[in-house]
Amino acid sequence: MTDITQRKAAEDQIRQLAFYDPLTGLPNRRMLIDRLRHALASSARSAHCGALLFIDLDHFKNLNDTLGHDKGDLLLQQVAQRLLDTVREEDTVARLGGDEYVVMLEGLDEFHDIAASQATAVGEKIIAKLNWPYQLAGHEFHSTPSMGLTLFNGHEVEVEDLLKQADLAMYQAKGAGRNGLRFYDPQMQAAVTKRAELEADIRQGILFGQFVLFFQPQVDKSGCVIGAEALLRWNHPTRGMVSPAEFIPVAEDSGQILTLGSWILEAACAQLVAWAADPETRALTLAVNVSSRQFRQQDFAQHILDMLDYTGANPHCLKLELTESLLADNLDDVIVKMSALRARGVGFSLDDFGTGYSSLSYLKRLPLDQLKIDQSFVRDVLTDPNDAAIVQTILALGKTLGLKVIAEGVETGEQRDFLVANGCNSYQGYLYSRPVPADEFLRYVHAVSVRKDAA
Ligand code: C2E
Ligand code: MG
Ligand code: MG
Repeated sequence: MTDITQRKAAEDQIRQLAFYDPLTGLPNRRMLIDRLRHALASSARSAHCGALLFIDLDHFKNLNDTLGHDKGDLLLQQVAQRLLDTVREEDTVARLGGDEYVVMLEGLDEFHDIAASQATAVGEKIIAKLNWPYQLAGHEFHSTPSMGLTLFNGHEVEVEDLLKQADLAMYQAKGAGRNGLRFYDPQMQAAVTKRAELEADIRQGILFGQFVLFFQPQVDKSGCVIGAEALLRWNHPTRGMVSPAEFIPVAEDSGQILTLGSWILEAACAQLVAWAADPETRALTLAVNVSSRQFRQQDFAQHILDMLDYTGANPHCLKLELTESLLADNLDDVIVKMSALRARGVGFSLDDFGTGYSSLSYLKRLPLDQLKIDQSFVRDVLTDPNDAAIVQTILALGKTLGLKVIAEGVETGEQRDFLVANGCNSYQGYLYSRPVPADEFLRYVHAVSVRKDAA
């Protein structure tokens, strides 16, 4: 018995020495390479990206030279602890030796640009944390790191090459003035820089009131305007009108969609109040796009109810457009929020319907009013029999479930005729009008009703 226990302890000790750094207790280079090999294989299987963050402390040698090696060792241990505190348990923190550390992140997004911003976010958090003052046995000490980043996906690359890439990027970060991070891939670096600039630009845009709502009419089968969809526009001082497709994903990623979304809802409510004063527009509904991130906020429903109270907008005229991506997570929570709003009269439409993962069982459970056929199906409805079949199926589904159906992206009279023949209730698209500013939308409503009166 004792023999085995002793042997086991000796083996453990050898293992500890072979795979771990004695000073910090972190995995050493050998262990890192072993884990990296596994990570590459698993990222090849799952298609998820991973990242290597190569960290080197700036001017570490000065500390050793001035305060001595004991203080140097203390700093290295505290840095190790801060790194461990910053990353998730499943990530790896290793010390290569000297003042060099590597953090390996796994399970990042499948898309490289998203994975790059995820890795950047972790990298920035680490840099901020390593910038906090250290207590080295009575001495307060400041230190900064330089960081190189590289992404991996699958095993098209050698483990040693990946480490070299991250190391190289770290030297670029040193060259760029230290206390910062750099990507190995210049394209990735450019993408991340551009994204950061766009984020800063959006912040300015919110501050300086550069965002406006445009309105696109929604009509019934005789062309009468029954409402509008509010579509966000960014009136950028140098770039002109910027499409939401370009900045909404960035705003979602950075969390700015919450500020922006709140502004959108308030502007939409104000528009409803203005319309309520005119008999011609009083009954119009206004559809507002809500991004999943916005909807997921704990107090989303209450926030809208407060907004309705505070602006005095009629809840029955407000319709929220949700996308199927929202239904991927906690369905019960989604239903609770929708029901709270619906109890007040707020309506719901399922946007881009047919493009996501649609399960009939959730459609039945959701308090929806309307399905919105995605424009990609409407576009080829006359030329592609598959699209025609999908459109017919959605219309039949709406009928069975007692939901209204609106088609978006209607551009030609022939498309409209097909939709009318198959029982569609409402229409939206360039055939009627492009999204336009509020005053132009009013002129459109007026012109249509004058035409109707004359007929
Ligand atoms: P969406 O909600 O599916 O909006 C429909 C998009 O189709 C709009 O693009 C609209 O201008 C365009 N469209 C309308 N009629 C036609 C047509 O006949 N033909 C073609 N080819 N296109 C047509 P837009 O305004 O660029 O918006 C793009 C997306 O950005 C929207 O897709 C929506 O997902 C998002 N978005 C727009 N405004 C907001 C907003 O206020 N909040 C949030 N969260 N997302 C918004
Ligand atoms: Mg929409
Ligand atoms: Mg849509």
